Amino acid sequence: MSVVQPRDLPTNLVADGQALAQVTARFPMKIDPYFLGLIRSADDPLGRQVIPHPAELLDTAGTEDPLAEEHQSPAPQILHRYPHRVVFLVSSRCAVHCRFCMRKRRVADGPQVPVAMIEAGLDYIRTHPEINEVILSGGDPLMLADDRLLSLLQALRRIGHVRWLRLHSRMPIVRPQRVTPDLARLLGRFNPLYLNIHCNHPAEITPQSAAACGLLADAGIPLGSQSVLLRGVNDAAEILKALFEGLLAIRVKPYYLHQLDRVPGTAHFKVPPAVGLELMALLRGHLSGLAIPHYMIDLPGGGGKIALAPEAVVERHPTHWRVRNWQGKIYDYPCGRWPKR
Ligand SMILES: *Cc1c(COP(=O)(O)O)cnc(C)c1O
Ligand code: SF4
Repeated sequence: MSVVQPRDLPTNLVADGQALAQVTARFPMKIDPYFLGLIRSADDPLGRQVIPHPAELLDTAGTEDPLAEEHQSPAPQILHRYPHRVVFLVSSRCAVHCRFCMRKRRVADGPQVPVAMIEAGLDYIRTHPEINEVILSGGDPLMLADDRLLSLLQALRRIGHVRWLRLHSRMPIVRPQRVTPDLARLLGRFNPLYLNIHCNHPAEITPQSAAACGLLADAGIPLGSQSVLLRGVNDAAEILKALFEGLLAIRVKPYYLHQLDRVPGTAHFKVPPAVGLELMALLRGHLSGLAIPHYMIDLPGGGGKIALAPEAVVERHPTHWRVRNWQGKIYDYPCGRWPKR
């Protein structure tokens, strides 16, 4: 069984079968059997991420494409927002459908992205020498079979101005079996190649996902993680602490903690940014600096990402800045006489 249909959900995970059918008619469900096995109840932190919730149909405030990605797409599968890096949407499929996915409009369990569209994306990258980084995303790029992934990476490596590659994949977390020794070796041939996983709760860190990340790290692939701040999943300091430290322990460097992007059906996941900042402030000082990601908001309308950080500078004076440390204590940092620049 590669896909769990709504009718296959264990009865203890379904409160209301009719509501489930209504929600999945609008926002399809997909849960990898491995990930399903980690879920204890529809309302636990893992269940909430993938099991359809009646609240999804009540939320009409979001927009399908909050980041205006479709306006920054000069070639079929390319998102080109920043000067030197592009996102290349090489897969339209994922092993799970996260209920909060900001790219729901492009993720479906249908056919893969046609080869001709991948070729058009490669052409775009070839003819834009300013692009030094290609981020393979989707959907999930590791939904591609090894041979397709190989020819894609080879084609990218033949483009001289592309200096490093990046993959964004949730596969090591939601279908760790996908990370075989063969796949790790394949990816390891393309260094410098970075891989960011997507992990939202410490319960997603299992012996299987740890083994998958271990294979990738052993193959020389630097690993980072992205998480989304989600109500009822990880909006508590002790959960974020366990998540980020758990990731470090499996050799994954927490990279970004994302504020939720407001696509339809996600209102029940909203966490106010003020709460996000408070949580970040609680972590500083108590966690290794390595374990602390940047807290990011992706601006609506395609403005790009900004990092939010707890306010350290309280007042700026000509001779000193008044600053606040991780304990909330106030210090004066002298900065009056710098050499002229
Ligand atoms: C997030 C994003 C990137 C990558 O940004 P980094 O800060 O380098 O991780 C690139 N392009 C687009 C369109 C993005 O949304
Ligand atoms: S793994 Fe990423 S792209 Fe796929 S459904 Fe989840 S959030 Fe969306």
